[in-house]
Amino acid sequence: MPNISFAEQVNHNFDRAASLTNHDPSLLAQLRVCNFVCRFAFPIERDNGKIEVIRAWRAQHSNHKLPTKGGIRFSNDVNEDEVIALASLMSYKCAIVNVPFGGAKGGVKIDRRQYSDAELERITRRFAFELSRKNFIGPGIDVPAPDFGTGAREMSWIADTYQALNNEELNALACVTGKPVALGGIRGRTEATGLGVFYGIREAVNVAEDMKQLGLPLGMEGKSVVIQGFGNVGYHCAKFFTAAGAKVIAIAEWDGSIHNPAGLNIAEVDEHRKETGSIVGSPDSKQLDPSCDALELPCDILVPAALENVITDENVDRIQASIIAEAANGPVTAAASEKLFQRGVMIVPDAFLNAGGVTVSYFEWLKNLSHVRFGRMEKRYEENAFRRVLKLVEGATGTVITEEQLRVAAHGAEEQELVHSGLEETMSTAYHEIRALRLKLGAPKIDLRTASFVDAINKIASCYGDMGIFP
Ligand code: GLU
Repeated sequence: MPNISFAEQVNHNFDRAASLTNHDPSLLAQLRVCNFVCRFAFPIERDNGKIEVIRAWRAQHSNHKLPTKGGIRFSNDVNEDEVIALASLMSYKCAIVNVPFGGAKGGVKIDRRQYSDAELERITRRFAFELSRKNFIGPGIDVPAPDFGTGAREMSWIADTYQALNNEELNALACVTGKPVALGGIRGRTEATGLGVFYGIREAVNVAEDMKQLGLPLGMEGKSVVIQGFGNVGYHCAKFFTAAGAKVIAIAEWDGSIHNPAGLNIAEVDEHRKETGSIVGSPDSKQLDPSCDALELPCDILVPAALENVITDENVDRIQASIIAEAANGPVTAAASEKLFQRGVMIVPDAFLNAGGVTVSYFEWLKNLSHVRFGRMEKRYEENAFRRVLKLVEGATGTVITEEQLRVAAHGAEEQELVHSGLEETMSTAYHEIRALRLKLGAPKIDLRTASFVDAINKIASCYGDMGIFP
């Protein structure tokens, strides 16, 4: 396959899946195309008084459901093709996990490490202002979220700018998700993508037939894991995989990689990184020789959790993992993906696996529209109902239930527990949907990525069908 761009790779995956469906070609053309792209160039003042022109994009790939949804990334590698590719992936991702949004993505072409906090604030607020001016943001229009290089702080600047411009809009806070909890965010959003990756892989490694085919034991316990990228997603993957009994044997970061065949202590790595700014030198870890790429280490599960195109034609033959968990968007090129599939490597695709972020964004958006915290109405009521039932059991059986036992058993759900449980249900249901579709389409010849694209195409096509636009 010739060297093709990121958006062309997504379209290549789309076309392969589309050829397995019976949809009208004109409908497929509509599902594939990116509906709108807005290109921005705006000035900001640097701290030294100089003016700099910042380039940014926002793409809305599919408006079959509104609002459109997707993160905003800050990276020097941002370009129009990348933003379109990521917006397309968002449309398919939302469909796969049954989140009722169209797909969008934004990008600001900066290396965030070169800017002070005050400069980053000026860039973010100005971008939010420009998006608002072009009607490219709003609770029912297009709702950004964090992505590579952005987080809750940037989202709070966007929400505040949008609110200032739309001060009569009751639902203004729903214009962006991934906000700090005090500013309309939801408990559980920060860890959502990493936790979603964990839930998705947990489902995959618990299917006996699939593990037998890979020659791996069932379950998460003892599996060796290599993680590339220790940002928000990579860190939370490492944390949840370890808590479930897997061993994170190596972590790669831009300034160096660390390893420990017995398993790294994730809390210590995180602590060390907070103190020194780097994972290198963490207690109980060795730095990996710079000539050796962590991606190429033998392991059960390889988790690329940073940017796209890290497993390519160039290094694919040296990849030794049995399972690739695409926590990032587009980490494996289309050509490399085909080679790995031929070799029997299981790729759990991005459009399903990293959907935890947007799933919990959906919960946050619902919370903002309803103006009430999840669990507020029912928590106490549930606790009292559980207590009444337990007291009945006590009376009927003569077993004494202590106050401590009552407290544990009759516990009503908090917001974060509801969010985690909604996320678990979403990821688990979606995994079994795409796995079943793969079998129906003719596994082993069909990979999970193709099955997930067919799933997305069918779901989005049915929206147009229901609107009577296409047959
Ligand atoms: N940036 C994340 C993604 O790529 C989250 C998007 C969102 O929450 O809207 O899925």
